[in-house]
Amino acid sequence: YNDAGAVIGVATGDMGIEKNGEPGPNYTRGMELLGKYTLIGEGVRGSLAKQLIAKFDLQRDREPQKFGIGIKELWQVKPEHHRPGLVQHSFGWPLGMKTGGGSFLYHLEDNLVAVGFVVHLNYKNPYLYPFEEFQRFKTHPAIRGTFEGGKRLSYGARAITEGGYQSVPKLTFPGGALIGCSAGLVNVPRIKGSHNAVLSGMLAAEKLAAAIEAGRSHDEVAEIENEWRKGDIGRDLKRVRNVKPLWSKFGTALGVALGGFDMWTNTLFGFSFFGTLKHGKTDAQSLEPASQHKPIAYPKPDGVLTFDRLSSVFLSNTNHEEDQPVHLKVKDMGLQKRSEHDIYAGPSTRYCPAGVYEWVEKDGQDTFVINAQNCVHCKTCDIKDPNQNINWVPPQGGEGPVYPNM
Ligand code: SF4
Repeated sequence: YNDAGAVIGVATGDMGIEKNGEPGPNYTRGMELLGKYTLIGEGVRGSLAKQLIAKFDLQRDREPQKFGIGIKELWQVKPEHHRPGLVQHSFGWPLGMKTGGGSFLYHLEDNLVAVGFVVHLNYKNPYLYPFEEFQRFKTHPAIRGTFEGGKRLSYGARAITEGGYQSVPKLTFPGGALIGCSAGLVNVPRIKGSHNAVLSGMLAAEKLAAAIEAGRSHDEVAEIENEWRKGDIGRDLKRVRNVKPLWSKFGTALGVALGGFDMWTNTLFGFSFFGTLKHGKTDAQSLEPASQHKPIAYPKPDGVLTFDRLSSVFLSNTNHEEDQPVHLKVKDMGLQKRSEHDIYAGPSTRYCPAGVYEWVEKDGQDTFVINAQNCVHCKTCDIKDPNQNINWVPPQGGEGPVYPNM
């Protein structure tokens, strides 16, 4: 920030900081990258976007952002099971009718099939285990045949924004703007956000180029905020704005039917019987105490079609230098024990798709263990911890999962 509080650039992280927080022998200071304007396009629940939204109060008068966790595998299937170009989507099973989510299955080239499952992160039951729901999904009779005799090649996970039109924060602030998934431009029923990410970059580029030409810098280019709702992105998101809240309120069977109806009236007549529905709670606030729910029994993995988390994380090629500060910051360990463990039965041990969090007994005490080296950077803990007590910060530069073909 400059003295006037405007953003003037970003600083890359320092390298070679040791676990104790002190510079080690390979210490290299980060670099400052300065510009007349800075566009923040760092994906869902970006760490810089999170700070900017708080600092400039960009979420004021907007609905809270909503999220899902998407878990995905890439398979090499037998040629006889491969139908190039086939796309299959589903919702519901095995989640039940009260929890939002669904699957995607894409037959790519070279006998490759991408399969994944999204669980909406406003689920209430802390015993829900998104990774296991995905594994169970692959066992459905209509799906499992695709993978018979095949080989799993890759694994990954990432949060997805789902709040849509009513949750998009104010995009501009002094010195820059949020774009892409940092702004939350995913169209949920289309399971697609890259089109709007590209369009938001184009809109920002046009407006910033004009501002720079006019000799401006480090001010707020309000034209971006003022125009996106009237353009292609706004039109795309407005039509589908009630699908997610209807799904959350009425469950999968009725909610999706009402959402479909609402999309038709919006598309054909530019009109909705529901107006613009609210999302209400954040995903963290949606979680209910474990005492109100029953544990869910998930089947054991067979190692052929279904797997455990650690063998999955291995396929994500995730890598973190061990001798560095833990990049998952728990603000108050006492609260984690009192609430996350004692009231919510440790949902982090289930919602994390990489098995980073464990509650283990050490010297007669329940202790929160963070296996930070396994983290696949999905950001779910930053979103779903019931007390917002976990803060994801970037680890040392360039580390994390490597998804060469995902
Ligand atoms: S630690 Fe958090 S960000 Fe990392 S994989 Fe687990 S839930 Fe995702």
